[in-house]
Amino acid sequence: MHYNFLTFDVEDYFQVSAFEKVSPLDSWEKWELRVEKNTDKLLELLDESGQNATFFVLGWVAERCPEISRKIAAAGHEVASHGYAHRRVYTQSREEFGADIRRSKQLLEDQVGEEVFGYRAPSFSISEKVSWAYDELYDAGYRYDSSVFPVKHDLYGISEWPQRANCVVKTEEGGWVYSADCVGECHCLREIPVSTFRFAGQNLPITGGGYFRLLPYRFTRYLLNYFLFRKHQPFMFYLHPWEIDPEQPHIGGAGWKSRFRHYLNLDLTERRLRLLLREFHFTAIREFLTLDREHSEILKAS
Ligand SMILES: [Zn+2]
Repeated sequence: MHYNFLTFDVEDYFQVSAFEKVSPLDSWEKWELRVEKNTDKLLELLDESGQNATFFVLGWVAERCPEISRKIAAAGHEVASHGYAHRRVYTQSREEFGADIRRSKQLLEDQVGEEVFGYRAPSFSISEKVSWAYDELYDAGYRYDSSVFPVKHDLYGISEWPQRANCVVKTEEGGWVYSADCVGECHCLREIPVSTFRFAGQNLPITGGGYFRLLPYRFTRYLLNYFLFRKHQPFMFYLHPWEIDPEQPHIGGAGWKSRFRHYLNLDLTERRLRLLLREFHFTAIREFLTLDREHSEILKAS
């Protein structure tokens, strides 16, 4: 059976990395929280379409709106971690990162009463420069990561990363490499990278979020069909709850590029998402890992 991954990064409109200079962590309390209402809306859409998703919940949000993760879990979806304070991995020391991912994991597990296996870094900020992040994730008890964007970008991405889900295996020298044929016994994490589109020798990051809002819906339809019929691979789609909320307060002071990307076509997203859910089959990443026999052993053992 073919399936695609549907993922949501559960954070609010004032927490996106593009606004971090005008809306730093110590100012978050002053903004109106809209993330719970928007997540409820997403849960409704999923319920109507009978689809399953992974929600990477930010710890800061979970602390203020504890019902969010409970509602996600009660509806049968996967609760995973987006870290605690939405700091990009390469702006933290290894110790700070380790503390951030443990804090959010513990918080979410206490709320939903089940183990949290997955992690997604803010702004997909795991790259070769911070490969120690995999040690920290593994030691903290995570069993998969979905933070690699296989694109060339000055701030994030590992351009040579394969496009499909892979194991990241610890080498004897202590580093991490990806491996296509790892067996169940090894010390490994699964990496589920963001889907990209190969065009003119480049991987283009056009598979979710702002691109979903920018490009006509038929483009997304083409991409999913391309993954289904040509590549025979699951497509990884991502979105944020604030992207279906055209009523959100505007944040002043950010540059025009950030504002353009953030506010573009917010009023079209919900309709497009409904179409997407009607036309394609999605699942949570957790389901894929437990379906995969070799790796389900790792999940059971943890
Ligand atoms: Zn985020």
